[in-house]
Amino acid sequence: RVRVRFAPSPTGPLHLGGMRTALYDYLFAKNQGGDFILRIEDTDTARYVEGAEEYIMEALEWAGIIPDESPKHGGNYGPYRQSERRKIYDRYTAEILKTDFAYIAFDTPEELDQIRAEFESRGEVFSYNYITRNTLRNSLSLSEEEVQKLIDQQTPHVVRFKMPVDRTLNLEDIIRGKFTVNTNTLDDKVLVKNDGMPTYHFANIIDDYEMKISHVIRGEEWLPSLGLHVLLYEAMGWQAPEFAHLSLILKPEGKGKLSKRDGAKFGFPVFPLDFHDKTSGETYPGYREQGYLPEAFVNFLALLGWSPADDKEILSLQEMTQEFDLHKLHKAGARFSKEKAEWFNHQYLQKKTDEEVLEMLMSIDQVKDSALSKENILKIIALMKERATFARDIYEDGKFFFQSPASYDEKAVAKAWNKDAVENMKEFASELQSVTFNREVLKQYIQDFAQNKSLGMGKIMMPLRLALVGELKGPDVPDIMEILGSEETIVRIQNAIN
Ligand code: GLU
Repeated sequence: RVRVRFAPSPTGPLHLGGMRTALYDYLFAKNQGGDFILRIEDTDTARYVEGAEEYIMEALEWAGIIPDESPKHGGNYGPYRQSERRKIYDRYTAEILKTDFAYIAFDTPEELDQIRAEFESRGEVFSYNYITRNTLRNSLSLSEEEVQKLIDQQTPHVVRFKMPVDRTLNLEDIIRGKFTVNTNTLDDKVLVKNDGMPTYHFANIIDDYEMKISHVIRGEEWLPSLGLHVLLYEAMGWQAPEFAHLSLILKPEGKGKLSKRDGAKFGFPVFPLDFHDKTSGETYPGYREQGYLPEAFVNFLALLGWSPADDKEILSLQEMTQEFDLHKLHKAGARFSKEKAEWFNHQYLQKKTDEEVLEMLMSIDQVKDSALSKENILKIIALMKERATFARDIYEDGKFFFQSPASYDEKAVAKAWNKDAVENMKEFASELQSVTFNREVLKQYIQDFAQNKSLGMGKIMMPLRLALVGELKGPDVPDIMEILGSEETIVRIQNAIN
């Protein structure tokens, strides 16, 4: 059975890259009729950030990527938080120490710092590896008695991986294909820390084994760890899962990895949800709070690194699930584009009914508390939706519906407002009372008025628009008048005249 896990560390909010990994994990699992699992990798207590796990869960739920198994949903392979799996790790720590793939090391951080400094002074870089390990304080260099004595004295120690010497590893990645790595280029990573907790590498492969993970799909930054992981599976006598390492999401200009600073720099969100960084005091905007629809966000994200058949662009989560193919993921990084993100949102907004958009606009106080009837707000939505990227644009661009102009655009005044205009508007307003406020009737009425006075339509339309809107923008004037109603329309014309 295909089982795919998303294994974030709760060290901060999920960024776009992490969110995309989760999405691809989900799409692949569901495409194969398998399970999608959320596992929280919280063994690194120093980097733990409070609230990060909740943020991750909320972001996944908002995007509709719901795990089958997780700390929240439970499942048959729990616990799903590494901090709660200590017993399992202890068992395997004892086991790997029995093999020739691990040893105990007593070097203190101070000792290692000193050695590092010595290497540096010679212009070399220190690595705890097959060359240096025989000279350092560990169970490979010390006698059995010495080791036992140190342990009995409760001397702090870690467990390290004993990297085999000069072996060529044949590795395979679903996206990148086959490649080789010589073990002499790899170091002896710490597997278990002094406090008995495993590091990422060891906990990760134990959990993938224990949770029966069939495919590991994760960010490209983990590709250099693949050799170690494959050897860990070998050391434990387990069959390794298949691996797929996803390429990066790049900055808009195409060079370098997208960072959270880019969001502020280029004015777009880099997190799914708003994130308040307590340490810096900064708040980073999120897609949800910026008014993105989750369907649009997920669609946009999926296409950063994957092209469905026929270059189709608009796909629901279900359609993406049907079409998803790990083998079709791009090897090159995907360039982020704010314009594209907005394009997707525009497309999805158009699919919403006016009633649904009304629901979204109700979160804006000025709309909720407006004197306009629901029927009229629906008319505004129908008029404005097509041009809107976000639901709130309908309010922003149509503010004049909700409040009369506080000032008039200077250029527009210079162009449309003069003595004649004032006279015409006076006369126009004085006869409006008896007109039915229906767009067709109003249109005819304005035409007749202009004709009777032998004026071009613009001579009436422009000052009228200026009085109603405050500038020379917006939908057709008769539409605006119908929604404002006769009383408000007349008041606004009179305000403009005065
Ligand atoms: N905890 C790792 C991370 O935060 C997981 C990497 C993996 O999927 O193996 O990226």
